[in-house]
Amino acid sequence: MNIFNNNLTIPYGLLEELPDPLLVFDQDFRILFTNEAGKKWVKSLGDAAGLNLWEEIPSFLREGLQTKLRSFNNQFPEQQVIECDVVDPLNRENYKVKLYLSGRDIILQICEASSEQVIERKILENHEQLLILQEAAHHIIYQEEPKALLDSLFSELSDYLNLEVYFNYILDQETQHIRLMNYSGIDEETAEELEWLKLGEAVCGKVAESKQKLIIENIQQSSDPAVSIVKKFGIEVYACHPLLFYGRLIGTLSFGTSKRTSFSAKELELLETVSNQVAAAFERTFLISELRNKNQELEQNYNKLLRNEKKYKNIFDGAMDGILLMDQTGLVLDANYSACTILDLTYNELVSQPYQSVIDILRLDTTNGEVWVRQKKGTPQSPGKLLEYSINNDHGFPGVMLFIFRDTTTKRMMINTLSEAKELAEKTSRSKSEFLAMMSHQLRTPLNTMLGYIQILAEDDTNPLNNIQNARVTKMLDSCNRLIRLTNEILDHLNLENGTQTLKLECVNLDNSLEEAIQGIQSVASEKSIQIKVEEKSGSDRQLFVEADAFRVKQILINILNNAVKYSPAEGNVEICHKVVGDFVRITVKDYGIGISEEYHKAIFEPFFRIYDPYFNIEGTGIGLTLVKNFVILMGGKVGVRSQPHQGSQFWFTLRLKKETLKH
Ligand code: ADP
Repeated sequence: MNIFNNNLTIPYGLLEELPDPLLVFDQDFRILFTNEAGKKWVKSLGDAAGLNLWEEIPSFLREGLQTKLRSFNNQFPEQQVIECDVVDPLNRENYKVKLYLSGRDIILQICEASSEQVIERKILENHEQLLILQEAAHHIIYQEEPKALLDSLFSELSDYLNLEVYFNYILDQETQHIRLMNYSGIDEETAEELEWLKLGEAVCGKVAESKQKLIIENIQQSSDPAVSIVKKFGIEVYACHPLLFYGRLIGTLSFGTSKRTSFSAKELELLETVSNQVAAAFERTFLISELRNKNQELEQNYNKLLRNEKKYKNIFDGAMDGILLMDQTGLVLDANYSACTILDLTYNELVSQPYQSVIDILRLDTTNGEVWVRQKKGTPQSPGKLLEYSINNDHGFPGVMLFIFRDTTTKRMMINTLSEAKELAEKTSRSKSEFLAMMSHQLRTPLNTMLGYIQILAEDDTNPLNNIQNARVTKMLDSCNRLIRLTNEILDHLNLENGTQTLKLECVNLDNSLEEAIQGIQSVASEKSIQIKVEEKSGSDRQLFVEADAFRVKQILINILNNAVKYSPAEGNVEICHKVVGDFVRITVKDYGIGISEEYHKAIFEPFFRIYDPYFNIEGTGIGLTLVKNFVILMGGKVGVRSQPHQGSQFWFTLRLKKETLKH
């Protein structure tokens, strides 16, 4: 209904009374009047008179009116009301706007939309929200990457709700801080500054701590320190939701904008639903990535196992010993190459068979030993193979026994042959010794008889011998003595060898022994004009007593001195000296004879060993030094030699000093 008459002056007083917002302006769009309700629609509020209409009214209203006027070629038709519908994008309110021409001026009336229109708008809004939720569900199901998921969700929501920023913080279990993982609407540098928040710090920290959503409106007017960060970005309204999965905090998700001052209950419901869906999607993503990691770990372990198995298989197959893997019932589970070769069976003939079918005598309760096995392909007469085996239950595979074996048939045969040969050699050696002993005994009696008669001949004063006879008898005497000494030495050696030689240890005066020994070989030394010199004693030197068998000490000295004379050139010197070393006295016999090469220093003490030198061709038996060594050792001493060819020799031996000597 047109309430204004074109020809009338506009009654501003009446307009003032009307509840709908009214603005009056002239043909140049200069504002002339605004009623009380209309003042809210102009920027300058009560003081808009004279100002340009287009600059004062909200942009959505301006755009709607200008579009409408363009359709009338910017002319106001007389007697006609111009009507158009506009929507405020901020609060999504619908308005019906009417223009009346009144004289030369125009009245602008802004009416709330009718209830049908509101219902229509609500249905539309619900539909739009449903569409957004449907889109969100799609992203949540198909988008695995959290950032991509949130970015696409945010782009959907920001179109609808005029959003400008979102922040997604995730709880770090270790530090119990929240960390900015995904965001939009701020630059990287700012994101770095906001990366970590303590629980309770700023809006997101508070939400994380309390697990309760926080919706803050009119932020620019707020003095709450918690909102200081979002306030800096010019944000007016901020909604932060905890991301919870079965009550467990995952993080927070918050949205904000400067383009509006509040969210409607419906919009907040939408943001909450989306946040809950995001929490579920994140949990799923975390589970998937955890599963992937576990899978990867499993795969790595599996590959490691495969490599190990290959390695052990190589060792198993390459082992020289035969190896059978058996279960507790004795069923063969696996066999290596050597097992097949030793038992002369194929892999299939061995595996899945009870062990008794191949190794029938083996008792599995003995952990190692030897066993004869029948050979399948052997002749009935062949004894089979001798196996040395061990059974191992303690190798980390419960229920599996390792039967490890090697073929010792050849080794056993060789041992048998060797022990037979040894027995034969011992028997031969025994016979030789018995023969030597028998011979020496048999020779000793006639030799002693001969010696007796020769001595009678030499000493018979009633029938004195002439010079020629005397020389011959002396030679016979010498030969007899040599033979008697040889037989005695052989008998001594045999007694030492079979352990029947006994010694009579007593206190022996070393000087006396030396004197007697020198006397004993004096005639031989004189024959070669060799002088035997005993080291001069200083005045303080006392007599030395040793714990020894007097007879054997003399024998040792005679043997060494005899050699020194024998292997020295005529007119040489043999020197004897001694030195007390600890509890022992060390006696050294030094000659300047043919010497001994180092390679023989050990061998000369072995029975019957002689250094053959055709140039010197010196007679001997090779038993003297053996007796020296054995008697010295029996008396608790040591013996040795220092010598070089053509540089003489020094034979030394030690004897234990008698305690009394040590005291003096
Ligand atoms: P033999 O009766 O042959 O002398 P021994 O057992 O007394 O037997 O000595 C073994 C070997 O040691 C001798 O054959 C000789 O070659 C060597 N030998 C021993 N003493 C001397 C020495 N003083 N100088 C050089 N060679 C020696």
